[in-house]
Amino acid sequence: MSTPPFFEAPARAEAAEAAADAYRDAFGETPEGVWSAPGRVNLIGEHVDYTGGLCLPLALPHRTFVALSPRHDDVVRVRSAQEAGADWEGSLAGVGPGSPDGWAAYVAGVPWAMGSGHGFDAVVDGHVPLGSGLSSSAALECAVAIALADLDDLPTDDAGRAELAGACVQAENVVAGANTGGMDQAASLRCREGQAILLDTRDDSVTHLPLDLAGAGLALLVVDTRAAHSHSGGEYGARRADVERAARVLGVPDLRAVAADGLEDALARLAGEEGAQVLQRRVRHAVTEIDRVARTAQLLRAGRVREIGALMDASHESLRHDYEVSARELDLVVDTARAAGALGARMTGGGFGGSAIALVERDAVPEVAAAVRDAFAREELRAPQFLAALPSEGAGRDA
Ligand code: ADP
Ligand code: MG
Repeated sequence: MSTPPFFEAPARAEAAEAAADAYRDAFGETPEGVWSAPGRVNLIGEHVDYTGGLCLPLALPHRTFVALSPRHDDVVRVRSAQEAGADWEGSLAGVGPGSPDGWAAYVAGVPWAMGSGHGFDAVVDGHVPLGSGLSSSAALECAVAIALADLDDLPTDDAGRAELAGACVQAENVVAGANTGGMDQAASLRCREGQAILLDTRDDSVTHLPLDLAGAGLALLVVDTRAAHSHSGGEYGARRADVERAARVLGVPDLRAVAADGLEDALARLAGEEGAQVLQRRVRHAVTEIDRVARTAQLLRAGRVREIGALMDASHESLRHDYEVSARELDLVVDTARAAGALGARMTGGGFGGSAIALVERDAVPEVAAAVRDAFAREELRAPQFLAALPSEGAGRDA
């Protein structure tokens, strides 16, 4: 059995230096500083961040770097190593809903949302796979946000970071036009090494929870299926509309308000609605998923990380059958990883493609990865990419 190669995160100092070098090539001078922010995986609590739920993300060691210098005018000039030939330059006065389009929205949208008084020159170099459900978009926004906060002497304690996360969500929703909840930005800005965050999306409060995978002899394997999630935007909006309608019918602000032991009653009350069966399945996912997050958090608090596998499995089944946001490739990862001995596995992120995670005995990682690779080859699917999710530090300054 050969072991599939892993997509490793480069050493932080070297990656920061590379970004500074790229800045020098682009602008002919040394940048004021280099900042970076991580991608994330969500351990559990999927598709509940827009209905007042709980989620449990951790930051990846894979980060997006931005080398940046402030300017005295309101011009932004930015280029990215991942978007060669698509350099962007414009004035902050021209940034707003839907403008600029393309990748620069994730950069220029941030000072717009922060109400920043000045422009900047910046070079981006990212090591989070783009469009894989590992949140390269939030990593980019949050790297820019922490840079601007640092330069403008804004608070960067946890409360300050919560503010910045809000601005990054604004940039993504309004300027980039991507209708997402707040999990990705909270994870990228507020996570700490060796920990996951329990994020309560009702009030954006965060509890840091220990996630000592190595200490338990475990690893969290990430499989980027590299399957395009083409219709994810429309389906995402449809799911949001479903849970918002269900909450209205039930007379609650959000589905968090439905306790797990009130689920049967809530389902009964939806019975007369148009499309009741679908609506009931959506509600069942949200309510049971929020309960699974709470139970996962309890296990982590007690240091019982080995026991979260069953909850991960149940989460995936709920997303697959009740919420209907999985994909053939995600199901294949999950089924194969479980058969190869994973303690639990589930899709992570929005779904319809993107990535899945598996909780695996550390020694079994090569075996599980090889089984997934072989299963994809047998089904004649594009080869997946493997990453290791070591709980890493949130956004910060590198140089
Ligand atoms: P995900 O966040 O799961 O990676 P999204 O579709 O939300 O997927 O965001 C991906 C988009 O974010 C890219 O298509 C690009 O526009 C932008 N982006 C992310 N990282 C970079 C980067 N390093 N350079 C340029 N654009 C980036
Ligand atoms: Mg994203």
